[in-house]
Amino acid sequence: MPPVGKKGGRGLQEKTIAAISTALGESAVGMIRISGSEAIAVADRVFCAVSGKPLSSLKGYAAAYGEVKDGERVIDDGVALVFRAPKSYTGEDVVEITLHGGRLLLLEALRLILENGAKPAAPGEFTKRAFLNGKTDLTKAESIMGLISAKSSAELRLSRAAHLGKISKSIAEIEEHLLLLDASIAAFSDYPDEELEGVSPAHFAEHLDFAENALQRMLSSYEAGRVLREGVETAIVGKPNVGKSTVMNLLSGTERSIVTEIPGTTRDVVEESVIAGGVCLRLADTAGIRKTEDAVEAIGVSRAKNRLDTAELVLAVLDASRPLDEDDRALLAALRGRTCLVILNKNDLPEQIDRKDLQGFYTVETSALNGEGYEALCAAIGKITHTAGLDPDSAVLMNERQRACAAKAYESIKEAKNALASGFTTDAVGVCVDDALAALYELTGKRVTNEVAEEIFEHFCVGK
Ligand code: GDP
Repeated sequence: MPPVGKKGGRGLQEKTIAAISTALGESAVGMIRISGSEAIAVADRVFCAVSGKPLSSLKGYAAAYGEVKDGERVIDDGVALVFRAPKSYTGEDVVEITLHGGRLLLLEALRLILENGAKPAAPGEFTKRAFLNGKTDLTKAESIMGLISAKSSAELRLSRAAHLGKISKSIAEIEEHLLLLDASIAAFSDYPDEELEGVSPAHFAEHLDFAENALQRMLSSYEAGRVLREGVETAIVGKPNVGKSTVMNLLSGTERSIVTEIPGTTRDVVEESVIAGGVCLRLADTAGIRKTEDAVEAIGVSRAKNRLDTAELVLAVLDASRPLDEDDRALLAALRGRTCLVILNKNDLPEQIDRKDLQGFYTVETSALNGEGYEALCAAIGKITHTAGLDPDSAVLMNERQRACAAKAYESIKEAKNALASGFTTDAVGVCVDDALAALYELTGKRVTNEVAEEIFEHFCVGK
């Protein structure tokens, strides 16, 4: 499969495409985007500016007010914005027609545009064209979906950082070191007996160290970034009556679970999400895990167990005002080795718990009933998920594809270091360095196969 990177045939696409780029619903305005060499001609067939001038007479970045008309029938009035290649989102000629944001209205206008020469845009096709025309690299393109779908401010900041090119910049720095290294290796091979500035195995090692450290930093922040973006599947567990529902209410700030004095009445797994310390916890308030005779409650208990098995983060609630019993100890034993935070609830009452039983666990104290301990709980969650130390405005890899490329580059750099340390020829080091570069080129899309590009953009929404 030939690459579609710079060397592999970027260029203007033939078809002129159109799609509604705003969400379909009821809104003040909605926008239809047309892109391609015929974009302005197509728009001129349906849009009549009040000035009487055709859009083709406008320069780039110019707007005209007018009407979208099907023959004599006016569909709506609005504004057409003209962009001339290459200064547009896609790098092609683009017209964006903004009308009133009615669903039927926009669909009718789009149909008219399609009847007048445009083809319907596939999901992500505008951004794909922007990529193929060199307007954006893959990491910036991939950040767009994050900008659109962000569910927390942290996710938005991560996506914005990627969109501003933070990942691209970090990768470019690594590439620069590796290219310098490649050049030094070539000079070293060509002139082995000359002492050239910056050309020696010690200098090679410096470049490799830089690349290794930078990639390691990126890979280690990936998981925390994923948690900030996607949230973390969380189970709240503990015996009946220790205060799980009350803790959940402390986290969510509302009375969403049934909080009751009678043990065993939180029967089912209640799904909800809360943001705690910037992290979205996909929570489930579970029926108390314990042996039960009640069939209905037993269903809740078995669901709670499943939830506990799959949870990435466990919040184990204990009643600190009572000594631990066998059920508490069994629960703690089952949680050893898991990402788990032990919540010592009811700390408004005298403490009866033996702290020795909690060795090796992260703990935090709350009095959920009085709404106390929220901040400490958030801080502990940030710490345990490693998100507290993550700067959401820095270069944080956004998805598994990017992580896999960075991991491949990292492995190749380690191989290069081994080859250098074991006294292999510089050529062997060079091969590993080129492998690392290839992986980085794939990450940013400098060199990427058609299949990979297709796969990425088909996950976009239509109109983007
Ligand atoms: P769950 O069965 O584990 O979900 O427990 P609940 O949240 O239903 O709470 C059981 C009882 O403990 C209720 O009467 C709560 O008001 C009480 N409770 C919960 N948290 C606290 C706390 O921090 N301090 C005190 N004193 N009581 C609490």
